[in-house]
Amino acid sequence: MADKRDYYEVLGIAKTASDAEIKKAYRVLAKKYHPDTNPGNKEAEAKFKEASEAYAVLSDQDKRRQYDQFGHAAFEGGAGGGAGGFDFNGMDMGDIFGDIFGDIFGGGRSRSRGNNGPMKGQNIRTSVRITFEEAVFGCEKELDLTLKDDCATCHGTGAKPGTTAQTCTKCGGKGQVVFTQQSLFGMVRNVQTCPDCRGTGKIIKEKCTDCHGTGYISSRKKIKVTIPAGIDNGQSVRIREKGEPGVNGGERGDLLVEVVVSRHPIFQRQDYDIYSTAPISFAQAALGGDVRISTVDGDVYYTVKPGTQTDTKVRLRGKGVPTLRNKEVRGDHYVTLVVQVPTKLNAEQKELLQKFDEAVTGKKPDVEATAHEDKEKKKKGWFNK
Ligand SMILES: [Zn+2]
Ligand SMILES: [Zn+2]
Repeated sequence: MADKRDYYEVLGIAKTASDAEIKKAYRVLAKKYHPDTNPGNKEAEAKFKEASEAYAVLSDQDKRRQYDQFGHAAFEGGAGGGAGGFDFNGMDMGDIFGDIFGDIFGGGRSRSRGNNGPMKGQNIRTSVRITFEEAVFGCEKELDLTLKDDCATCHGTGAKPGTTAQTCTKCGGKGQVVFTQQSLFGMVRNVQTCPDCRGTGKIIKEKCTDCHGTGYISSRKKIKVTIPAGIDNGQSVRIREKGEPGVNGGERGDLLVEVVVSRHPIFQRQDYDIYSTAPISFAQAALGGDVRISTVDGDVYYTVKPGTQTDTKVRLRGKGVPTLRNKEVRGDHYVTLVVQVPTKLNAEQKELLQKFDEAVTGKKPDVEATAHEDKEKKKKGWFNK
């Protein structure tokens, strides 16, 4: 047996790694080296095997403890020989795969579930676009969705009225088939959804003509959704029992409505605070006075001090977004005041400004020279307007 690498080293994690870190590290490696993504690549196969073995041990508390204490010797002399002394045959790889690969490969492997008992229906996900203000103050929206209902003709059985569905012979009505499979790790016991009855445990000989044997009828439904004040972009509202119908009398799944908030031209949001900038004239900044500021509650007046500089930040308490828990509790609105430098001045305004400058500096500006310079610059195309 070649020298085996340390399991922690294989996964590239510290000895103190948490379960979540172990899982994460394995997930990355398994995805990279999985035989499905590296067909015929022996090196990838070896790496995949090595990582899977490391994960199998480190993800199991008892095995990890043994390994920490005795190293690889802990598992030597076991029954298996295929994986370098480690016995994979006794392990429930289904658990590991279900856990890890369900996430990686889009959940294609259906989870084993109790069959024939009542089962909650699947959740449905959808999204709704709302404005910035609607997110701040809450709103009601109506969604137009196609929802399945149990077929009234066959009462959800899918069988033509007067006939009944037969118990599936392949799985004996269990909905699952168990088979053993030669894998990289030796023989692995695998549980799969029955391919004949697709997990229902029943075979329909004569299909209900209304629902074509599915047991469901789809129809457009209007569903009201109440969006609470304070909701943020990407958050979801759950509407109970508006998802897929349950199976065998199970309750319906839920409808999860993700909220997509449109950008606002002025306001930006971070958590429950709002940020914006407000223009302020040079004279207002210099002399002080009331500045009009837009908030989500409408315009308010804020009194600035004489000599306010540009980029001064102002906090409007309680003018932010209501919290989801209690809409009386609100964030703040932070306003950055931006002093505007006038751009289009007429002759009179220019003269006044020059006089002002003169009064401030005590010097008479060389107006003629300035005007001359301007002309020169214009000729050279320095002003691009
Ligand atoms: Zn039907
Ligand atoms: Zn079956």
